[in-house]
Amino acid sequence: MRRTLVVATLLASSTLFLVQGARAEEGSLFREAVGGGGGVVASESPEAAEAGLEILDAGGNAVDAAVATTFAIGVAQPQSCGIGGGGFMVYRGADGEAAALDFRETAPRAITADAFQGDGIYTAYTGHKTVGVPGTVAGMQAALERYGSLGLDEAIAPAEGLAREGFEVPESLSESMGENAGRLELFPAASRQYLVNGGLPYEPGSVLVQKDLAGTLAAIAEEGPDAFYRGEISDRIVEDMQRAGEYPGDEGLLTKEDLAGYEAKWREPVRGEYRGHEVLGMPAPSSGGIAVVQMLNILEGYDLGKMGQSSADTLHTLAEAQKIAFADREEYVADPDFADVPAEEILAEDYAERRREDIDPNAAEDSYDPGDFGGRRGGSGGGDNPEGSTTHISVIDAEGNAVALTCTIEQSFGSGVVAPGTGFLLNNELTDFSDPGAANEPEPGKRPRSSMSPTIVVRDGEPVLVVGGSGGSQIIMGALHAVVNTVDHGQDLAHAVDAERLDAQFPPELILEDGRVSAVAESDLISRGHVVASEGEYSDVPLVQAAGVDPDTGERLAVTDPRSGPQASAAQDTTPAGLPHTGGVPFDGCLAISGSAPPC
Ligand code: GLU
Repeated sequence: MRRTLVVATLLASSTLFLVQGARAEEGSLFREAVGGGGGVVASESPEAAEAGLEILDAGGNAVDAAVATTFAIGVAQPQSCGIGGGGFMVYRGADGEAAALDFRETAPRAITADAFQGDGIYTAYTGHKTVGVPGTVAGMQAALERYGSLGLDEAIAPAEGLAREGFEVPESLSESMGENAGRLELFPAASRQYLVNGGLPYEPGSVLVQKDLAGTLAAIAEEGPDAFYRGEISDRIVEDMQRAGEYPGDEGLLTKEDLAGYEAKWREPVRGEYRGHEVLGMPAPSSGGIAVVQMLNILEGYDLGKMGQSSADTLHTLAEAQKIAFADREEYVADPDFADVPAEEILAEDYAERRREDIDPNAAEDSYDPGDFGGRRGGSGGGDNPEGSTTHISVIDAEGNAVALTCTIEQSFGSGVVAPGTGFLLNNELTDFSDPGAANEPEPGKRPRSSMSPTIVVRDGEPVLVVGGSGGSQIIMGALHAVVNTVDHGQDLAHAVDAERLDAQFPPELILEDGRVSAVAESDLISRGHVVASEGEYSDVPLVQAAGVDPDTGERLAVTDPRSGPQASAAQDTTPAGLPHTGGVPFDGCLAISGSAPPC
């Protein structure tokens, strides 16, 4: 049905595309950016965005606001992110200082390379064995210590209030509860927290109060990260691990030593240059920054602007660049503390030039060999969830400090496990490891490879794009499209996030939001050998959230992906730049709501 409608739309609009030089058409769910002279927060959750806004209004900086938003989104969107998970942050200060923070989960000491081979509950990505040591609490503490102005207790306060008082369950959470009810029911504490009336999801609009989570957050606020990694919370997690094993493959591996040994790590960001812009990305163990910058290096050899945004030439070139980047990613990218990741070689200009020669402008390749850089190889297999869950937060404050932060518990509702009394979901991040023998194989203390791609693009000293998204291994193209749309196609923030996307990680399939691609361009792609998997106007993932300084007006803007659904929000602090923060305006959730939502 969707396909029929899409084709009808295509035919009706194809003349327009030809006249417009194949510029992406505005989508039916297009939402404007919000903005002003003060700081902005982009987040999928209005409650979380509001928490960040409160902090900005109270005089906090971008890092303070990002931390408060992260804690709050763990309450309001518990299926995607939380203190039971981990993530990555890319920071750029108004003074130009840049840093990358890795608070990815780590494997327990008892892990073996073949831990996830064979049958068992792991095949459903569920249960204790999939849980890595969570990194979020240590990561937020590290971020505040280096760049924040608040204490952990102040940054946690809005989240604790939200957990204690509750919030109205949006449709997306209710749906996700329903889809995961079978998994949650395996673990009584999870079932009690997220299901009602004998296994049903909370209805949209009903209020979810999380008392155990409020208590856990209060303990962290009072005692600091030790409450989590060494104190009562760690005891509860480990007790639950020891009780586990009721189902095949559900053995809990985490110990007190694993938790006490966790460390968030500052890393050097991936740095790229793209048509006069500086690009900052997340280094390994994420594959996101390397892949995005590698693709940009390849794409710099083509005049994408002239080729046209929605043209077959541009879409074909993006697809082939992705296949090359993914060949190297599969082969080489893993935790750099365990594997030799040849990031410098992959990102060298002359390597990009060589790889451009591999691209046939008229024919899609089914596969490209990875570059030959020596080191540890072995292909990967497994480890890539093309959907996943996760959520992204982008913040710019009034001074121009910028934060791109993506956090996750991996799959929607993570492992499904809540240790009794703690009130939060434990991640299933260890499912991001690959098969034994791969650079990304499971090893004790190692961090699984990620696709998360928090990215900052700087033009003339201003962060014009602060972006990232959710959607498993499709995140990478979500970030790339936003960069290319901004830089090559001159789109403003809202249109750069709205425009059609593709993903070519499963060749010859080309996942394509073809609802806004002309019929002529689509058949041209097919004639070049792409097997188009039609996603219609908008696909379910990736979900991209972005902020950016408008280069013309200096306004700070934020936008959420129209694909994130009507509950998604972007908050705005209207305090003019350069003035002290004195309260701002109350958050108005209507600001960023479009689509089927009533007009404000
Ligand atoms: N665990 C995934 C990763 O780190 C993210 C999952 C998702 O986005 O949905 O790449």
